[in-house]
Amino acid sequence: MRRRLAAGNWKMNGTAASLSEMDALIEAHLSPSVEILLCPPATLIAAMASRKGQHPLAVGGQDCHAAASGAHTGDLSAQQFKDAGATFVLVGHSERRTDHRETDDVVAGKARAAHAAGLVAVICLGETLAEREAGQTLDVVGRQLDNSVPDGATGLNTVVAYEPVWAIGTGLTPTSEQIGEVHEFMRSRLSARFGADGAYFRLLYGGSVKPSNATEIFAIPDVDGALVGGASLKAADFSPIVTALE
Ligand code: PEP
Repeated sequence: MRRRLAAGNWKMNGTAASLSEMDALIEAHLSPSVEILLCPPATLIAAMASRKGQHPLAVGGQDCHAAASGAHTGDLSAQQFKDAGATFVLVGHSERRTDHRETDDVVAGKARAAHAAGLVAVICLGETLAEREAGQTLDVVGRQLDNSVPDGATGLNTVVAYEPVWAIGTGLTPTSEQIGEVHEFMRSRLSARFGADGAYFRLLYGGSVKPSNATEIFAIPDVDGALVGGASLKAADFSPIVTALE
């Protein structure tokens, strides 16, 4: 009932030459049984969307503004991503929360804008190392979940990615028990708020997912896929992660 999702976040990496990595990924997964999403830098969205042709690979933005248009130099709206061929957009990535001081309220506004434009919002959240060590993980995740996921979110228009900040780009990963605890917590919190629809939200794990740990992570209950940074840049790394999810 929840289609598994392998999502790649290229961050501020990639030029037109990098589209050959998408070609290789498509070649390796001509009829994927899971959903594959690539979020390249905004400069590559339109090219990626047109070059993939009829292949079901989805293309997404990495952030959007909460407004539909206006005087926001350098920003891009959800509608503009949609116009360029995106069907998803990440919001609330920890690098946005840290580098641009985005609060849960700001993230919820971006998710609402994504929904209004017809995009699926991938809402990212997760605790810092200090918060985990202080035993605050579920408090932090609960607060971010309650306040970053807007009313109007459904299992169709929203994906939640649990990404512990200390696991992103560090090579560190939580134990399976730790990932399982947070995912079970998020599922029950979403069900308490959204009723039966809570069961339909896809929950991703993100943070140093690699071919070597993907199978173990994907076996954890309520993990419906992964949001992958570094290992999504090369098809040779991302393709085995997709295969592990299939
Ligand atoms: C990310 O940026 O969302 C991420 C999970 O990065 P990495 O896989 O490199 O840890």
